[in-house]
Amino acid sequence: MTDGPTYGFDTLQIHAGAKPDPATGARQTPIYQTTAYVFRDADHAAALFNLQEVGFIYSRLTNPTVAVLQERIATLEGGVGAVCCSSGHAAQIMALFPLMGPGKNIIASTRLYGGTVTQFSQTIKRFGWSCKFVDFDDVEAVKAAVDDDTRAIFGEAIANPGGYIMDVRSIADVADAAGVPLIIDNTSATPYLCRPIEHGATLVVHSTTKYLTGNGTVTGGAIVDSGKFDWSANDKFPSLSQPEPAYHGLKFHETFGPLAFTFHGIAIGLRDLGMTMNPQAAHYTLMGTETLSLRMDRHVANATKIANWLEKDDRVDYVTYAGLESSPYFDRVKTVCPKGAGGLFTFAVKGGYDACVKLVNSLEIFSHVANLGDTRSLIIHSASTTHRQLSAEQQEAAGAGANVVRVSIGTEDADDLIADLDQALAKATS
Ligand SMILES: *Cc1c(COP(=O)(O)O)cnc(C)c1O
Repeated sequence: MTDGPTYGFDTLQIHAGAKPDPATGARQTPIYQTTAYVFRDADHAAALFNLQEVGFIYSRLTNPTVAVLQERIATLEGGVGAVCCSSGHAAQIMALFPLMGPGKNIIASTRLYGGTVTQFSQTIKRFGWSCKFVDFDDVEAVKAAVDDDTRAIFGEAIANPGGYIMDVRSIADVADAAGVPLIIDNTSATPYLCRPIEHGATLVVHSTTKYLTGNGTVTGGAIVDSGKFDWSANDKFPSLSQPEPAYHGLKFHETFGPLAFTFHGIAIGLRDLGMTMNPQAAHYTLMGTETLSLRMDRHVANATKIANWLEKDDRVDYVTYAGLESSPYFDRVKTVCPKGAGGLFTFAVKGGYDACVKLVNSLEIFSHVANLGDTRSLIIHSASTTHRQLSAEQQEAAGAGANVVRVSIGTEDADDLIADLDQALAKATS
């Protein structure tokens, strides 16, 4: 489904990348549970290894089931290609790997998934990389943070955990002026609610663990390339613009043009970092993508109803859902996420840390888990769990203070969820 008419999102989420299996006619994409693929002959093998022909060699690099998911996610995001990998965090490392080197830095939003803050503030230092965290609503501060060693700017369209919506276009302009790519983590929004490439993003990363799979079964990640960045415009990105010694001096950008980043992600990234998605995971995620828009519409409708109910409740201090009229991001949502502000928000409970712990313990339908984007409603007290490794200051900046819980609203009956929150808030604040 790459040529022909332009189909709508609901059609593409089911069909993009897939066709009946050529060997058997199987209508659903088979799970190609194989490690290796037989070469036609020795010349065919040599051509594959030289990247002169595209095909399947070994499942650390490519697998037909995973390839369908890659094409589907790339299509839904409006990119030219995608590489799937073993988790969202793997996707972030794989996105940065071709761009970075010792002494290079990235600029990231202060409002990010807690695990990402830890990855960027601690772990990447082991590679000699560093990160400057900046408030992305202060565009001048983002501009001022750019220096000669900056190689990327990174933010989340809908930021986890706090109901923050990033003005993607204003930061894309800063990245363009600096000659570096803007990477958007689109996990919380999904391509149904937000298409970052249309707002100027170069790369989009996903934790497919969340809404794309949709039911909490498998971990996975994806890196989508817009194909629009000129990797040879300056000397900042030698991995893409300069000869690659491990492929007989091949230059990825010159050879593969707009697909350079995607080919590099497979031929170097997966080959050498080995953060591969397995075909079983790809199968579950392909099943999930088929119903993405249906689920997201329900997540948004439920979240809107529940956020409005909570906001009027005396036991609640505030609710940070960008779909609420009281949100400072209510207008921005209409541009960045025209189909709604997602299913994720936080609220502050009167009674602080202890009340939050009691609330989490008293809920019946909501599960207390470190996940989001499930059909089930989920809750977590970020300060005692996902954001525990952060300083109090970082917790506040990330919207995860001690009195705040994060909910991922599922697709159950909204009235049942409200009744559950009502009884648990009664126990928490009595
Ligand atoms: C979960 C998540 C990640 C990390 O993904 P994993 O699949 O758990 O590695 C990154 N960013 C966001 C916004 C997430 O929600």
